[in-house]
Amino acid sequence: MGHVSGRTYLAIPGPSVVPDRVLNAMHRASPNIYEGEIVAITHAVVADLKRLVGTDQHVAIYIANGHGGWEAASSNMFSRGDRALCAATGRFGHGWAEATRRMGVEVEVLDFGMSAAADPERIAAALRADAAHAIRAVLVTHVDTASSALSDIAAIRAAIDATGHPALLAVDAIASIGCDELRMDEWGIDVLVGACQKGLMLPPGLAFVWFSERAMARSTVAGLVTPYWDWRPRGTATEFYQFFGGTAPTAHLHGLREALGMILEEEGLAQVWRRHEALSRAVWAAFDAWRAGGRDIALNIAEPGHRGRSVTAARIGNGGAGRLRRWLEAEAGVTLGIGLGMALPGEPAYGDFLRIGHMGHANAHMVLGVLASMEAGMAALSIPHGPGAIEAAAAAFARAT
Ligand SMILES: *Cc1c(COP(=O)(O)O)cnc(C)c1O
Repeated sequence: MGHVSGRTYLAIPGPSVVPDRVLNAMHRASPNIYEGEIVAITHAVVADLKRLVGTDQHVAIYIANGHGGWEAASSNMFSRGDRALCAATGRFGHGWAEATRRMGVEVEVLDFGMSAAADPERIAAALRADAAHAIRAVLVTHVDTASSALSDIAAIRAAIDATGHPALLAVDAIASIGCDELRMDEWGIDVLVGACQKGLMLPPGLAFVWFSERAMARSTVAGLVTPYWDWRPRGTATEFYQFFGGTAPTAHLHGLREALGMILEEEGLAQVWRRHEALSRAVWAAFDAWRAGGRDIALNIAEPGHRGRSVTAARIGNGGAGRLRRWLEAEAGVTLGIGLGMALPGEPAYGDFLRIGHMGHANAHMVLGVLASMEAGMAALSIPHGPGAIEAAAAAFARAT
């Protein structure tokens, strides 16, 4: 038995830490689902979900995880045989492309590899090559949780517009909502996919798809849409059951009401983004110090402007990442994420990658605690690393506040 007694920290990129307040809010007996509080809460939640992503348009809530959100979005955009363009910046971009392909859509993947943001110019070039305008939508991942790459959605929109191509812009923001700056209407996003178990701090169970008027018009001819996934009744509900295509997720709605209040009313969205920025700076500074002197330690994304603020993917060579993860769980009460999409389980390089989740309900003592625990683990395991990482992380956090 290791030294884990005390509060543990699940520092994986989702599900994230659920605040006790959210858990307590969810601890309710089943309510009357025909009238009263749950109906009022739902209307308030819908309004706040729109505020959260900066849209005056529509949102549909599904009882699903992020994969369900992908399928909801794609079923409302496409007919069998339609074409789509997917800008993949990690495992999750490929995942959405694959799900959409299996639904009968011809998906062209622009593969930006595992350590780069999507290049708006390559997206524009692919659209220019489609003179017949057969491509219905461009699928982009805002922050790919596997690589931690952050793509510039506003720049991608501008590049699409410059081509005059009418494709919808559909964005997976599951890992960035409530963590990284995101402005749906200002950035010209047509379809936005989210889920509740990352920056929104809930247990898994809800997916969200926000959609523009333009996207709604497209969905009227989308042949893949089925009754459950149809976003129109959910987004324009007049009867309560229409919001959820059946029984409401009552406990999750109470939890979401609490979480949205924490984000939008108490802390404020701009400050939530700043907090994630400051925590990220601390993580990045620690890695810069650890790698100094040519150690085999590196952040996955070299360019700071292309890094997401909710998750950090990194490499510690010679199997160090895997050994460190196991040590942290056994000795420090910290669970880090596995590397995803970097190497296959069983390949020697599989143990070289890890991810740190710093999304949602996280603050300096949690993240600095993770970094100091990592440093202890590296010392215990004799993993070569440069000095001064914790001091650098503390200083970076201080500068960012
Ligand atoms: C977590 C995540 C998903 C998948 O969500 P699930 O709830 O695991 O289905 C998809 N895309 C991104 C960017 C994610 O972070």
